[in-house]
Parts: sequence; structure tokens; C-alpha cells
Amino acid sequence: MSRKKEIETSGYKKDDVLTVDITDIGNDGEGIGKINGYTLFIKDAVIGDKVRAKVMKAKKNYAYAHLEEVISPSEYRISPKCPVARQCGGCQIQSMSYERQLEFKQSKVRNNIVRLGGFDAEFIDGLMQPIIGMEEPWEYRNKAQFPVGCNKEGNIVTGFYAGRSHNIIPMTSCYIGTKENETVMEIVKTHMEKNHVRPYDESTGKGLVRHVLIRKGFTSGEIMVCLVINYRTGSGKKQTSGASVEYITNQKELVERLSEIKGMSSISVSINTEKTNVIMGLEVHTIWGKDTISDTLCGLKFEISPLSFYQVNPVQTRKLYEQAIEYAALTGKETVWDLYCGIGTITLSMAKTAGRVYGIEVIPEAIEDAKRNAERNGISNAEFYCGKAEEVLPEFYEKKRKTAVGGDDGSSLNPDVIVVDPPRKGCDQVCLETMLKMQPERIVYVSCDSATLARDLRILSDGGYSLKAIRPCDMFPWTVHVETAVLLTKTN
Ligand code: SAH
Repeated sequence: MSRKKEIETSGYKKDDVLTVDITDIGNDGEGIGKINGYTLFIKDAVIGDKVRAKVMKAKKNYAYAHLEEVISPSEYRISPKCPVARQCGGCQIQSMSYERQLEFKQSKVRNNIVRLGGFDAEFIDGLMQPIIGMEEPWEYRNKAQFPVGCNKEGNIVTGFYAGRSHNIIPMTSCYIGTKENETVMEIVKTHMEKNHVRPYDESTGKGLVRHVLIRKGFTSGEIMVCLVINYRTGSGKKQTSGASVEYITNQKELVERLSEIKGMSSISVSINTEKTNVIMGLEVHTIWGKDTISDTLCGLKFEISPLSFYQVNPVQTRKLYEQAIEYAALTGKETVWDLYCGIGTITLSMAKTAGRVYGIEVIPEAIEDAKRNAERNGISNAEFYCGKAEEVLPEFYEKKRKTAVGGDDGSSLNPDVIVVDPPRKGCDQVCLETMLKMQPERIVYVSCDSATLARDLRILSDGGYSLKAIRPCDMFPWTVHVETAVLLTKTN
């Protein structure tokens, strides 16, 4: 093949600068434009823009290009509120109006279910309910995890990772987080500088401070700070009496300054000496205040420890749970299983209007929290099991099935409702198969990834369940993420 021919068939090449109309939005929020059937993916370009873009990586039929200039802006284009919106990996679509983001998320969920789940488009369109948006889509996050590192000059930087990398974009304030984050991070950074406390270096495994976790109970106003540190005792012995040990030079002074912040309730350290991307270490020592902070959600009081999963957007979580509860259609008698239950937020919200509720969760601390949360709220019809849903549920099912003959009324085996709220990878196949064996009347699927949701809905649908309603919920404004609640009912 001649050189000329090769260029023709492979479209464009690196460094080509092109003018293109943005006509679509990709799953990661990037703008998509086409020139003679050749597709360009352009980060930060907004649907409706005409842009000049430079090809960065060219393939035969498509290329990734860098936004060089907006020639004529889209009607949906807005100025990002955050000065580092383009560099930071946290928000992907701050240049898009909030209304257009909601529209994008609604169709992202719909398209994934249709295309990846193999459902009829018209059928799905008939089930889609309008996305639940936020009235005030800023300062919504109750949790932040700031990485701490060094810049090229050797100065301490804290902030957020740039997209798809571990380069820290210096930033102590963030418009989607709470105002206190900035105060905490300034105190930590100043303390480290003054006392020559080194940040952790991923390449050498040396240095002390890795991350700072900050959480705030939006209703209680209580704040928790957890410093994730790379701490080893000289002798290599495991540290047990953590509370009496100074991990950080002049720790008392640091604690004193942090504890002066209004609402500060818990200061702890988490020990993480592994070379890993996992942020938190499993060993946590409280060094000031309480072990947990409290918060109120759906009228229930929850205690949250540094390691527990707790939804990050409490305003939207309440709306999402209310939707899930409506789908569960509880009348006071029902038996409900809540798989991937975390600290029992959905389980306990449903306990009030169900006969009996069961929760399964893999993190032991979260299960301990869930049990305490049940007690604290005077809920006695909830049971929690620790382990993987795909192991605990089949085990329970097989054991109970053998012993149930004659005695048990079978309600835990054949529940009225199963709720699932899995992490992004979705439900395990064995978990789905067991759910199908248990034949609940209704399945309520709460999902944070519509691609794995689509895959699992196909399995449940083939296994005898009908999709009845789909409701996206915007838990993460300015990012491409979207939650979805789905109702399925037993077909026969
Ligand atoms: N329903 C809860 C938590 C949802 S997040 C809430 O809304 O707050 C998903 C949860 O699933 C996390 O708590 C995570 O620890 C847990 N998890 C992850 N894999 C699991 C598995 N295989 N089995 C059970 N729980 C799991």
C-alpha cells in the first residue's frame, strides 16, 4: 500500500488540527464530532459547539483529540465554576449546563439498557421516569479524600488527581464539597510544612501522609478527619495501643488546631503501609473525639466510621431511597432482603414498613455499624449477615431450604422483595442465580453503573422477571456518573 493510500484509509494522524461540529456526548462526557464518517472524541467539548481540535491519538476510524479552541459555543456551554475543572479528574462536565447534564444522564441510562441489555428501545422508553435532579447542585458531597504528595520542587501539594493519573492538581477547596474541607486541608498542609512531615511517595513507598479523609454529617453538622498514613514501627511489630502513640511529629498541636473547627467530632489515623491504590488501611485508631460521626437519613440516625460506605450525597440519597421504597411497595408484612447493604441505610429505611428485613454486606465494620444502627433506632425486625452476597445468600438458601420443611414459614427463603445496591461491577452471577431461585415478588435494583445494570437486567429478565419502571437519579452533578433505581416483578 502506498504511503498516500495508507493515510487516506486511516483518516487523520497525530497533530492534525481539525474544525468539527460536536454532535454527540460520549459515556465519559467527552464531545463527539464526525468528519466524513471519521469520529473524533474531544474531552471538554460540549454538544452543539464548533471547535478546533488537535489529534492526539489516531486510529483507523476514530481519534482522540485535544480541544484547542471553541469557535462557536453551544447553547449548553457555560463557564465552569471551578478554575481547575479541565485538569481535575473529579468533574468531567462542568462546561455543560446542569439541565443538559440531566438530559445526558437520562439518555445514558436509557441507551445502556437498550444497547448493552438488548431490550427493545420503545419498551424501555415507556418505562423511563424522568431523572431526579438537584435544586442546588453544589456543595453536595459529604465526603472528600485528598491525596497528599510533592510537586517537582519538593513542596507539599494536596488536591485531587488529574483524570486517569496520579498527578495531584493542587486544590484545597472544591465547589462540590463542604466549606470545611479547605480549612482542614490548610491546617494539615501547614502543619506538615512546619514540622517537616513528609508526604507519601508512591514510587519509593517512603514518606508518611498518604491521604486525608474528611466526612461531614449534613444533618448533625459533625465532622470527621482521618489521616491515612504509611506508618511502620521500627521493630516491625504491629502497633496496638494506637491512641497513646504520636504518629506524626507534634501531633498534639495538629489535633488541637483541627479540633477547633466547628463541628469537629472525630480525628483518627488509618494505617496503610501497602503499595496499593486502595486509599484506606484497615487499621484505624481514633486519636481525638469519637470513633464515629452521626447523621440522620430518612428519619433514622446513623453512626458512620471511617471505613464504612456511606452515600456521599445525602440530599439525593433520600430521594433515591424514597423511590426504592416506593418500588418495594411495602405494606408492613413483607420480608425483604437488602444485598450490598453497607451500614444498613436502605435495610433500616425499609424495616419501618416491612415485616422482617435481612441485610448482607462484605465489610465487617459496616455490618457492626448496621447492627448498632438498628439498635439505636429501636428496630428489632432486622438481621445482618457479613460476607459476600454471592456466598452468604446461596449458603443461607441451601441450608434453610433443607431445614425449612415443616417448620419455617419460608418467608426468608421466598421473600416478597429483594433489593440490591452493588458496587460498579454489578451483581455476581451466582448472586443473581440465587435471587432467581428465591422467587421474590419484586426486585428493586439500585445501581451506580448503568452498563453493569443493563447486563444484570438481561439476566433477571431471562430468568423470569419483567422490567416495570426505571428512574435515574443525579447523585453526582458535574460528573458523568448517574444512579438508577429499577423495579422488576415476577412475570408469572
Ligand atoms: N446500600 C448501601 C451500600 C451500597 S454501596 C448504601 O446505599 O449505603 C455497595 C456496598 O456493597 C458497599 O458497602 C460494599 O462494601 C459492598 N460490597 C461490595 N462487594 C460486595 C459483595 N460481593 N457482597 C456484599 N457486599 C459487597
